[in-house]
This record gives sequence, C-alpha cells and structure tokens, in this order.
Amino acid sequence: MEILRVENLTKTYGTGENMVRALDGVSFSVKKGEFIAIIGPSGSGKSTLLHILGGVDKPTSGKVFMDGNDVYAQNDEQLAIFRRRQVGLIYQFYNLIPVLNVTENITLPVLMDGRKVNDERLEELLKTLNLKGRENHLPNQLSGGQQQRVSIGRALMNAPAVVLADEPTGNLDSKNSQEIVELLKLSNKKFNQTLIVITHDENIALQANRIIDIQDGKIIRDEVIRQ
Ligand code: ADP
Ligand code: ADP
Repeated sequence: MEILRVENLTKTYGTGENMVRALDGVSFSVKKGEFIAIIGPSGSGKSTLLHILGGVDKPTSGKVFMDGNDVYAQNDEQLAIFRRRQVGLIYQFYNLIPVLNVTENITLPVLMDGRKVNDERLEELLKTLNLKGRENHLPNQLSGGQQQRVSIGRALMNAPAVVLADEPTGNLDSKNSQEIVELLKLSNKKFNQTLIVITHDENIALQANRIIDIQDGKIIRDEVIRQ
C-alpha cells in the first residue's frame, strides 16, 4: 500500500545569478513500512527533500501526497497539524528545547496539538528508549545518544505514519549510532511505520530495504536491496 508519493518536485533557492536548484524533477513512491536510506554527496538536495516531505519547506513546483492527500494544497493550519501528526522529524543535532526536561520535550507535540498525553504510551516509550530515571533531566544533562533518544521519543509520541531522520547518527560514535538505528528499526518493524533516513554511513544505508541516491538534485539510483 502506498503511503507517500512525490511527483516531479523542484526546489530553487534565491533568484537570478544566485539561484540554486536544490531539487530538479524528483519523483518516487513509498510503500507503507518501507525503510529507505537517502544517500548522496553534501549539497545534493537530501535535506531539502526531507523537509519538503515533512511539511516544513514548500516545493517550488511538484506535489507531495501523503496517504493520498495533497500536502501543500492544505492551508497553514492544516499543514501545522500534518507536521505534528503525520510525520516525525529527527535531526542530527537533536533540536531539543533546552529549558524543557525529557518528558516535556517528548510530549511537546501532543500538548501543542491540544491533546492529552497518553501516559501509558509515554511510559512505554521511556522504557523502550532507555530513558527511565531521566524524565526530569534537561538536554544539557544528557549524553548525545540520550538526547537523540529523546528526539526519537518526540518524533514517535504521536505515532506518525512516516518518520523522517536527517543524519540522525551524524554526531554519534558507532556504538551509539547503531543503538539509534536499532530503535528506529524497532518502530519500523513493530508498527509497520515508514522510515526515511538520510545517512552518510554505509553501514546504516545497507540496513535499509531501499536506497535512493541523489546527486545535483536528481535521483540517480533508486533500488530495493531487500524485501
Ligand atoms: P544536502 O542535504 O544533500 O547536503 P541540501 O538540501 O541541504 O543538500 O542543499 C541543496 C542545495 O540547496 C545546496 O546547494 C544548498 O546550499 C542549497 N540550500 C539549501 N537550503 C538553502 C537555503 N535555505 N537557502 C539557499 N540555499 C539553500
Ligand atoms: P491508539 O491510537 O488508540 O492508541 P493504535 O492502534 O494507534 O491505538 O496503537 C496501538 C498501540 O501502539 C498504542 O499504544 C499506540 O500508542 C502504539 N502505536 C501505534 N502506532 C505506533 C507507531 N507508529 N509508533 C509507535 N507506537 C505506536
């Protein structure tokens, strides 16, 4: 079953002589439960693509369909709800809110959505992410790996259909990196949640079921490497 489809995406930044074509005619379709690694050199358009999929950066032209809905045909309010419920974004440098503790960071998207925190789900997430006993710690009192686990918790709290991670292990050593990948894979397997990860790490890319290689804003390879 298709969960996500992009059609002929282009994205340009700037104008005239300063114009940069970050994406140039990108199309693909994603089935529910896929784990896709996006690879390619620095500056090739990977982050731009991920941000467009996540509803945070509007394409210059082309379309994104999530579960059949045209994402950028929505108004700003609908788009904000889309960002909180349909997708979970994970960044290289965690992007946690420094003055909020672990629990507050994880539950923020739910609260911003005006919904009640599902305590059972929070508890389960804290356990899975090995953050029990750290609930009241601030981000600067945590290791990099722990901070990334908090950001995974925040991304998963609303049980999004699609998790989008931009170099989630780029700032971690290999042991912590594999731990983060295992956690992402767990949710991918257990809930058939779709996972799209940008990575420079070949070991991680090879754990995906499909690899999309982007160069100069174009897909130069899109291959299913395992079913
Ligand atoms: P990658 O993630 O593959 O490193 P990016 O998507 O970050 O690539 O960037 C693709 C191209 O778009 C690069 O040339 C980059 O400099 C440019 N770019 C990205 N974001 C912006 C922006 N906000 N303003 C101007 N240029 C940008
Ligand atoms: P509900 O929406 O009523 O909680 P679901 O069928 O969506 O029920 O989920 C069943 C259980 O699995 C719940 O505890 C839910 O929080 C959890 N869950 C569902 N989808 C995901 C997901 N994609 N990632 C993590 N947990 C999930």
